[in-house]
Amino acid sequence: MPATIAVPHAPATELVDELSGMERAVALYASDMPGRYRLQGPEDRNLIGWIAQGVARLGREEIRRRASYLCGHRKLWLRDMTTPEIDRRHKERFPSARRLSLAESMASTSLLWVRPVPAARDLPAVIDGPCPKCDGAGKLWANWVIDDASGWFEEGYGPCWVCQPEGGAA
Ligand SMILES: [Zn+2]
Repeated sequence: MPATIAVPHAPATELVDELSGMERAVALYASDMPGRYRLQGPEDRNLIGWIAQGVARLGREEIRRRASYLCGHRKLWLRDMTTPEIDRRHKERFPSARRLSLAESMASTSLLWVRPVPAARDLPAVIDGPCPKCDGAGKLWANWVIDDASGWFEEGYGPCWVCQPEGGAA
């Protein structure tokens, strides 16, 4: 094991609290965090430095964009709905599943002691490619529940719950 680890300059939590867990994971993935890093206690300040480094490398907008795609991919993956095209784009962004898994686990521990501001929780899940559910139309023809108690349904178009941000079913 290396005795010293290069940790970037002085951590500032003001930047990090504006980032959701997914955004922090993307930043850590892009940082110099060693591939076999282990947490140094419950509040590991090294993570703050690496998150800041990742943001400096990719830029705030790119962090958000990649995190949104990561959310979108996770959403599909959980339902076994990813397509080869969407998987390919995901792997281009995150070639190492192992590093991504480490980055996600480190990012989630940081949420416990650097709480995200409310706006940081609004990260939309974005599908990078044609939506496998609606084929990119953004809407679905279905029976929509108008009133559950009386069993009132109406048939028509509604927003696709997979690729539209307000579609619910998080
Ligand atoms: Zn869709």
